[in-house]
Amino acid sequence: MKEFKLLINGKLVSGAARLDVINPATEQVLASAPRADRAQLEEAIAAAKAAFPDWSAKPVRERGALLSKLADALEERQDEFARLLTLEQGKPLSEAQWEIGFAVRIIRHYATLDLPNKVLKEDATQKVVRQHMPLGVVAAIVPWNFPMVLLVIKVAPSLLAGDTVVAKPAPTTPLTTLRFGEICGELLPEGVINVIVDHNDLGDVLSTHANVAKVAFTGSTATGKKVMGGAAGTLKRLTLELGGNDAAILLDDVDPIEVAPKLFVAATMNAGQLCLGAKRLYVHESQYDQICQELGRLARASVVDDGLKQGTEIGPMQNKAQFEKAKSFLEDARQNGKIVAGGEVLGRKGYFIQPTIVRDISDDARLVREEQFSPIVPVLRYSDIDDAIARANNSEYGLAGTVWGKDLDRAFWVAAKIETGTVWINKFLDVSPDIPYGGAKQSGIGMELGLEGLEAFTQIKIINMAK
Ligand code: NAD
Repeated sequence: MKEFKLLINGKLVSGAARLDVINPATEQVLASAPRADRAQLEEAIAAAKAAFPDWSAKPVRERGALLSKLADALEERQDEFARLLTLEQGKPLSEAQWEIGFAVRIIRHYATLDLPNKVLKEDATQKVVRQHMPLGVVAAIVPWNFPMVLLVIKVAPSLLAGDTVVAKPAPTTPLTTLRFGEICGELLPEGVINVIVDHNDLGDVLSTHANVAKVAFTGSTATGKKVMGGAAGTLKRLTLELGGNDAAILLDDVDPIEVAPKLFVAATMNAGQLCLGAKRLYVHESQYDQICQELGRLARASVVDDGLKQGTEIGPMQNKAQFEKAKSFLEDARQNGKIVAGGEVLGRKGYFIQPTIVRDISDDARLVREEQFSPIVPVLRYSDIDDAIARANNSEYGLAGTVWGKDLDRAFWVAAKIETGTVWINKFLDVSPDIPYGGAKQSGIGMELGLEGLEAFTQIKIINMAK
């Protein structure tokens, strides 16, 4: 594999140290990544700051044209990126292809947008105009479950808005981000985007730095709270996309045979390491046994293997820490519920967990209350829909949710009562570059994607002129 380099001030440079990246399907070292020290991080922030005046002064269409080129370049190398993503992240190649394709679409979407001034009021005596100003240096901090999508969701709107960027992937999935940095280095002026890699030791320096104007962060709620605390010193702008515990509510008119495969994918895609998934299922008592049975059948039939192998449906947990956490949820499931299918790790190298369906588990079990981030799915019984809604809402999280049913008016009525940033009806994870998403409650602050996800990288200014 060609050597990986950091991108600092337009140059590809070695790291002050190195970091082994593990393939989660084999537990073998996949590559050695460059790791920045504090001085290199400072250089990256200084470069982004120095690049800001020229970059922000460029006409927006010029910035958009460069973004289009970036999208083209990524698309040209889609197969290579998808393969690398599977190797470092573990997800099946088809899911990696989807992720890179979606990243291309996001960049292309933002390349075409604009932030025109808007006349808010005009009469004989005055003219009031709203303008969007760029903010300065943006810190883009990304987790390991969707390394590329969650990166470009921040980078593309930042760059179009006129901001410059220091991007930091998670230490266990830095490789696709570093390759993306290489493309950026070829196409964009120096310093406009910088890519550093750390070992979970520079995120706090980056997100509290006085020269960083905004932190766009995706990760756990616990880390998000630290980022928010650290932002207070200079009142940084924040977008926080944090944890979730999305409920799926099945109304009593669903067809169990039709709905079960969709729910199963919603719960186990990316080995359940999905922020917007189905993490606890509320099923009407009249269909409870049949749904559990169907889900169990699907779990037993699913192909769990190395994401590079053709036919693999579920890959490994992304890293050892997450694997250990998933095992603790299996233990909780064994103690507090009844396992319908799965329940074990695969007896082989790699961080593999059998997709696991758990029934007759109480609402206060860890597997129900916490974000499991693994393919271990609790199925809960309800008899009264108001009770199901109350239980779904009884969570500190509020990222997303799904409602499944044939009576669309009733499904909409239920969706309207769910306290989350997104609710899908009879589908899931239908994300699109032009539709914003974001968390309610402790699942986050602000939105990404859509026009909202662009405006979030700007400061609104009002120019109020007397005539
Ligand atoms: P994490 O919070 O441990 O790490 C996320 C990123 O923050 C990493 O790059 C990490 O190095 C960095 N970081 C660590 N300490 C930091 C600090 N003090 N200051 C700034 N940055 C710091 O999260 P994770 O385990 O990598 O990701 C899983 C979590 O991400 C889950 O909770 C999941 O729900 C959440 N997530 C949310 C969304 C969303 O859109 N809401 C999307 C994907 C994942």
